[in-house]
Amino acid sequence: EAKAAGRDTLRFFDPQMQAAVSERAALEADLRAGLDAGQLELFYQPKVDQGRITGAEALVRWRHPDRGFISPAEFIPLAEESGLILRVGEWVMRSACAQLAQWSAHPVLGELTVAVNVSPRQFHEGSFVPQVLEALAASGADARRLRLELTEGMLLQDVEDTIAKMVQLRGYGVGFSLDDFGTGYSSLAYLKRLPLHELKIDKSFVRDVLTDPNDAVIARTIVALGTSLGLRVVAEGVETEAQRAFLERNGCHAWQGYLLSPPLQAAAFEALVLKRAGV
Ligand code: C2E
Ligand code: MG
Ligand code: MG
Ligand code: MG
Repeated sequence: EAKAAGRDTLRFFDPQMQAAVSERAALEADLRAGLDAGQLELFYQPKVDQGRITGAEALVRWRHPDRGFISPAEFIPLAEESGLILRVGEWVMRSACAQLAQWSAHPVLGELTVAVNVSPRQFHEGSFVPQVLEALAASGADARRLRLELTEGMLLQDVEDTIAKMVQLRGYGVGFSLDDFGTGYSSLAYLKRLPLHELKIDKSFVRDVLTDPNDAVIARTIVALGTSLGLRVVAEGVETEAQRAFLERNGCHAWQGYLLSPPLQAAAFEALVLKRAGV
């Protein structure tokens, strides 16, 4: 009876929903093909610490043949659902490590850390730790310059497994950032147990930090919390000098944002770093 109703429901499927479903299916097929065709590219956004660029966050872009660049906000969730994220994630890890290794011989670029965003499904896969170690070994990159950006939600899924994986990678020197901090549900007791280097204040709090007293309190609280746990605190989405000054005044250690630069292709990123270093 319920089954029959289910079939009827399907038969009278909303055509608009039907269109959305086929659109997703088409995009997924395109992504699968795009991976093979080399359509993914890493962009790099500088992280600034005391006026110096000390690192890069790798942010993936998909150069779709007909649609131009597609934002990760659009295709990462799709890749998560379809499982393609495992291949995307592996490609990102290998590419970021290769870039790190390439920079390592340079007197200025060799000082940079590279941060890689990790998706929940990728992190919880049994092969995650070996995948990172393989990417490091294959490229010859220094594990101590690799940062992995995790989000709160994914860490709550299986606490013991999460901590075990982090501790294992920390043993090789890999560092961890908690991305989009403040948007999830971390408990303080739990935060203390995680082997983290860094908290990243989500850009949704930075945007109105000067005009919304709640956001100002949240930003200050994250800085205080991180600092008291011995962590670096990084603000993301800094677009104005006034936001930067507010955050610095309140003890935030580092920042990223359009105020200095959007994510850039590797060559443009390198040029920016060298220009700022006066090289
Ligand atoms: P995220 O890791 O929190 O990255 C920060 C996002 O803010 C990036 O968007 C960046 O381009 C953007 N952004 C940087 N500065 C500013 C600013 O001043 N103002 C504003 N409004 N935005 C700024 P993007 O590159 O579109 O990436 C969106 C999200 O997609 C990322 O958020 C991350 O969660 C995910 N993502 C990106 N690359 C990867 C990847 O290689 N793997 C995985 N699993 N996820 C990725
Ligand atoms: Mg990130
Ligand atoms: Mg973030
Ligand atoms: Mg974010």
